[in-house]
Amino acid sequence: MDKYSILKKYFGYSDFREGQELLIDSILSGRDVLGIMPTGAGKSLCYQVPALLMHGITLIISPLISLMKDQVQALNQAGIHAAYINSSLSESQISKALRLAAAGQYKMIYAAPERLETYEFLQFALQAEISMVTVDEAHCISQWGQDFRPSYLKIVQFIRQLPGRPVLSAFTATATEKVKEDIVCVLELMEPQVLVTGFDRKNLYFAVESPRKKDDYVLSYIKEHREESGIIYCATRKNVNMLHELLVSEGIAAAKYHAGLSGNERKQNQEDFIYDKSPVMTATNAFGMGIDKSNVRYVIHYNMPQSIENYYQEAGRAGRDGERAECILLYSAQDVRINRFLLDNKEPNPEQTREEMDAVREMDEQRLRAMIYYCMTTECLRKYILRYFGERGPDRCENCINCAREYEETDVTQAAVKIIKGILEVRQRYGINVIAGMLAGENRAKLREYGVFDYEAYASLKELREPEIKMIISQMQTEGLLAATNDKYALLKVPSAANEVLRGERRVILKRPKEEPGKRSARSSSGNGMRKSDILNSKGLELFDRLRALRTEIAREESMPPYIIFSDKTLIDMCVRAPLSKSEMMKVTGVGENKYERYGERFLHAVFEYTGGVREKFYFGETEKFTETSKDYAAVPAKIKKSEFILTAAQAADFPYKEKYLVTEIAEKLNDLRDAQTVKKTSGAEIFRRMQAEKYADEQRQDGRWQKRISEKGLKAGLFLGMRMSRNGMEYEDIYYNKEAQKMIVDMFTSHVRTPVQ
Ligand code: ADP
Repeated sequence: MDKYSILKKYFGYSDFREGQELLIDSILSGRDVLGIMPTGAGKSLCYQVPALLMHGITLIISPLISLMKDQVQALNQAGIHAAYINSSLSESQISKALRLAAAGQYKMIYAAPERLETYEFLQFALQAEISMVTVDEAHCISQWGQDFRPSYLKIVQFIRQLPGRPVLSAFTATATEKVKEDIVCVLELMEPQVLVTGFDRKNLYFAVESPRKKDDYVLSYIKEHREESGIIYCATRKNVNMLHELLVSEGIAAAKYHAGLSGNERKQNQEDFIYDKSPVMTATNAFGMGIDKSNVRYVIHYNMPQSIENYYQEAGRAGRDGERAECILLYSAQDVRINRFLLDNKEPNPEQTREEMDAVREMDEQRLRAMIYYCMTTECLRKYILRYFGERGPDRCENCINCAREYEETDVTQAAVKIIKGILEVRQRYGINVIAGMLAGENRAKLREYGVFDYEAYASLKELREPEIKMIISQMQTEGLLAATNDKYALLKVPSAANEVLRGERRVILKRPKEEPGKRSARSSSGNGMRKSDILNSKGLELFDRLRALRTEIAREESMPPYIIFSDKTLIDMCVRAPLSKSEMMKVTGVGENKYERYGERFLHAVFEYTGGVREKFYFGETEKFTETSKDYAAVPAKIKKSEFILTAAQAADFPYKEKYLVTEIAEKLNDLRDAQTVKKTSGAEIFRRMQAEKYADEQRQDGRWQKRISEKGLKAGLFLGMRMSRNGMEYEDIYYNKEAQKMIVDMFTSHVRTPVQ
């Protein structure tokens, strides 16, 4: 087999993405590689494809247990033998896995770096044929990176002990020069093929918002995106707890994750999120490394992170499936204080000298400053990020809030002159707070202490408010007309470029958004603001919903995350192609042979059932076929915005009550009654979420399967347990609803607002 057949057979894709082929070919020719690619670019395939073509075993070093589990699950689903060896297994499981590995059962083995030192593992490695060692999240090897892991340094010692040197391949999403150098040197890569692919993630929309109340913002955002999965990152555990409590009290199925929770709680909550049981995750940055959930539609940062690296990595967890997703950062001045506090209290690394620690602190400070500028800038946010990573982007991306917003331009040259003079007058000894306070003529204790009242500059800009002065200062900083020192005091300095302003040769223009900050209206006007599922017409969307429901059903039966069965993108392509035969189904992106064998027929059946065997056009426009490469959806007409599911009292009166229904059946009957033109569908999952929120029932994972339970309250309301048969003949318990309970649900979804009599 060659790499193309492997790609189609196991992964179901027809083309490689940018850079993948180069790395795969290099590995196969025996050359070391370093792949620096943003999250979601498809790093895994770069080592998985050659691993299948090489003679021996590929050993993948990966920092996190959850990452390994996810990858191995996905590989096994695709029909590839792989295993992981880590502390989540018992001693005897580990021995067994190593025995099987030694007997050639697995092509790929995932292990944590700590594992390499153990006697048993080394014994295995010494007599096995290891063709390649892959180091995932390779930036963990660098002290300059964000996630330095001393145990990564042991990888080299391990490799040196092997009888033959395997090919080394390293992958990371962190691109700074220092980190890159460290990976090459510390890992001792030999003349590696280095590939840095574009960092741009075109499907991600970026925004910075400063709402007065962040809680309200988050709540209304989630309510507007009920059907979607998202992550809310907070800076502290306390914020996570508070926000989580708020969301749950509002009936939102949210999970939480931070280092203060027990291992079991974290595991359970993470699974709830991955399995879409709790589509919203509130978390600190402890969450997410190695989370490969492809259908995360938004990542909101409740607080500003410490660096652009962190931000891009966390935000990058949105939209891995290549579909449109939103990355929103909620900024407030308080965030700067929290972050400085966190930096000041960072645990010292015992393996670093004093000088190294100081250098790291200074770098942290620089990173934080770049992050703050990101929150302030009025230029294209994508351009800003790409420039930070050393890439040139277009001036405007038309897919971020700054490109979508209209700005008012004000000439603030005179104020800029006064600012420069003020800074020079105080001999460049103060930071932005003192300077702005002084120029605005404030009278607070700190300013009195510094004796700023005696300067000529005091109150020289009293016609402006302090925040306005700060805005001008920030603007001047981004334009290089002011600079700040690289310590935590960030004293404002006047670079030579400022002379141009003083001499009247250069004007300073302040750009301010026309609309109220905090409004998100700019979003919808963006030209790229369309999901790929928007390519589907109403019939297509209905088919999409059905296929999604089938996917959830299979996911439940197999205890697999839905996106591991098929991604949203695969389902959409399935709706566009509406395959009616095996060969047509095999053309759908993401459908490989193994996946076809497992699920193909059920999906074919679903398409057949829906179409009655007659293929119609389920998408808008003349687009031939939706494929990975077709990007032009601009011609697709906008959809009418439908309201959340609701029935009028008259529609509700027609509900066909029966002795017992399953929740999915109730959803189906309810949907039949609605006005399909203007009202979105509800689903079994949505109704069950309401049941959970109102404490009628609950769902727990037991022995690897979901078990539903009814509360006292639920029993009284008419919920009862009964047996069901899954399609593959397994019996399992599910909740049924009697007439009384049906009535209650119908009522929940009925509008009781009276329409005036005509
Ligand atoms: P990374 O590790 O770089 O964050 P992944 O390896 O998890 O990214 O890949 C992200 C997604 O892209 C996965 O869903 C993967 O199946 C998909 N993908 C990778 N390569 C291709 C390809 N050549 N064609 C289509 N989809 C791909």
